[in-house]
Amino acid sequence: MRAIISRFAPAPTGFLHLGHVVNAAHVWRETRARAGRVLLRIEDHDRRRSQPGFEAAILEDLEWLGFVADEPPVRQSERGEIYEEALANLRRRGLVYACGCSRIDVAQALKGTDVARAFQARDRGGPERAALHTELRYPGTCANRGLAERPGVGLRVRLAPTVERFVDLRHGPQVQRPSEQCGDLLVRDRDGNWTYQFAATVDDLVQGVTLVIRGDDLLASTGRQIQLARLLGRDEPPEFLHHALIMKSPDQKLSKSDGDTGIRELRARGWTPRQVIDAAMAASTFG
Ligand SMILES: [Zn+2]
Repeated sequence: MRAIISRFAPAPTGFLHLGHVVNAAHVWRETRARAGRVLLRIEDHDRRRSQPGFEAAILEDLEWLGFVADEPPVRQSERGEIYEEALANLRRRGLVYACGCSRIDVAQALKGTDVARAFQARDRGGPERAALHTELRYPGTCANRGLAERPGVGLRVRLAPTVERFVDLRHGPQVQRPSEQCGDLLVRDRDGNWTYQFAATVDDLVQGVTLVIRGDDLLASTGRQIQLARLLGRDEPPEFLHHALIMKSPDQKLSKSDGDTGIRELRARGWTPRQVIDAAMAASTFG
């Protein structure tokens, strides 16, 4: 049996809120129950939105809550060489190409398709909204254009039309087709930021993470991470556990803009760590 290594990976783009606490509680409880170790990864790959002040506040709140990692935190902003190396590995095999498309370009290319109509329906709101999990599938516009890699141009990795099967520890057997869901995967955006999907997959591989515990909102993207990890040389993917998110009602996800979910505010009002964790878990039991 392999040793269990999991991670908690907040983005320092705001203060810690109840959504983080639910995730942290699942990570620490499940990992400790299996005698595993928890790593702390600061996901500051988005250099425009990440702030050191938020990182310090998050670490301080985590400590107050009693969530202590087994190693000092690592920061994605300091791991550029590791991502470059992973990218070079893919590039050597002809799997990487430059893409000049913006999100709007992708939406335009899909205009009139079922996907575009579904998105318009979602953007209008209404009854379809909650049930709709469609995402923009990149149609491969630049796959054979031979664009030069240069600043202002993104990078994508070619995804073969594989079927990814895995067993989620809470939801059971899953079947996903990444190339149909998202198309060729963006690994670096036009601003030069590594994408979440790429950085997290590389980090999980390099750090030897064997257990990924995260919210249900990421379940649909697990197949592409497994496929990408295999392209990077990882034959045995981590185990995945996707837990319920904080909900106000079954179809309304709480956002950070709701001031009442901030841990700083709850602390200031005299809540104890136990009360905060219990409230977070209670608010996520709709799922
Ligand atoms: Zn493109």
